[in-house]
Amino acid sequence: MWQFAERTIRDVFHQFNYKEIRTPIFESTSLFARSIGELTDIVGKEMYTFQDRSGDSITLRPEGTASAIRAYIQNNLGESLPLSKVYYIGPMFRQERPQAGRLRQFHQFGAEAIGSPTAETDVEIIAMTIEIYKRLGITSYSLQINSVGDEECRPKYKEILRDELRKIADQLSTESQKRIDQNPMRVLDSKDENDQKLTASMPLITDHLNEECSKHFERVKALLTAYGIPYTVNGRLVRGLDYYTKTAFEITSTELGSQDALAGGGRYDLLVKELGGKQTPSVGFAAGMERLMMILEKKGITPPKQNPKIFIAAADESSREWVLKTTMALRTNGIASECDLLSRSLKSQMKEADRQQAEFSLVVGTMELESGKALLKNLTDHTQQEISVNDIVGFFNK
Ligand code: AMP
Repeated sequence: MWQFAERTIRDVFHQFNYKEIRTPIFESTSLFARSIGELTDIVGKEMYTFQDRSGDSITLRPEGTASAIRAYIQNNLGESLPLSKVYYIGPMFRQERPQAGRLRQFHQFGAEAIGSPTAETDVEIIAMTIEIYKRLGITSYSLQINSVGDEECRPKYKEILRDELRKIADQLSTESQKRIDQNPMRVLDSKDENDQKLTASMPLITDHLNEECSKHFERVKALLTAYGIPYTVNGRLVRGLDYYTKTAFEITSTELGSQDALAGGGRYDLLVKELGGKQTPSVGFAAGMERLMMILEKKGITPPKQNPKIFIAAADESSREWVLKTTMALRTNGIASECDLLSRSLKSQMKEADRQQAEFSLVVGTMELESGKALLKNLTDHTQQEISVNDIVGFFNK
């Protein structure tokens, strides 16, 4: 199932022209602190951080973007191409309380388009994420989008929001009280019901965007509509990572329990510069593999079978060598095939062909080798036909 899902994901990435980037499992701790943000849950509470033998602080990667951008800068990827489109699939680590859909070692697939400021790029990333779920037969998802502003309008909005929050601070949950100063937008995203009621009519960032962010957001929405991608605007959507600017999005599914987020992403125009590169507007997303698996399982979606095309059975001892040689020839010509390696009787070999759910079976003994003809049985519809034993590879290649 994992291979099937991964293959489909890679196919979609390939069709959208994203190339795989493989980065190390661990990086210097400062990389994550600088990119994800010191005040986020990930950096503050969830990272697996160790000292190595030389006393350097290293961290098992909690997400993929920081490493991808580090590699982009270090390898000067921006020099050869104005826009680098990369993807990754691999394990990530966060020290969270394990529960259904939340693990401490989990897997993410994700992509980054590094070097484009356009709304078209945001929508390509969103459309690609959705295409992956569609391709895997998942329909029960919804897309929420927001704009989190930029370095000009966000600080102004945060001040307005802070002032409003301070007025009701003593009624908010302790967690939200702590966030008023550090990250007031997270208060609007609180899971606490009382917090939600208290902040129900608070000003939203979408009403405080500057002209550039507002234009960008309008263009994203228009393009989503033009592409036929349904969405809802959620002015309270903020992501758990500090580096986002302008577009933020999340894909959730009702098929999942309380951990209902399938994927999330957004634009991060300041991150490359923040990590020591040139100003490079970028956008990306990351999605959880385990949560995807949970839905596929729940919906009874199964991968296409990967059974042998043909099982060749030896009718007698003297034809075993021929059977093995022919099975090998089929395999080297790209045709999945199997034969008996346990010196079993013809009857057991036929049972094995059934158990392996081979599409065809062929019994070959001295008689067939002498006449050059054998009966090929279709094990699904039980029809049979005579074929030439000397050209089985040719027969299947046709
Ligand atoms: P994030 O990097 O937090 O935006 O997460 C992106 C996606 O990764 C989420 O929507 C989940 O599907 C998945 N994810 C994040 N954290 C975990 C975890 N601890 N266990 C399993 N999946 C996770």
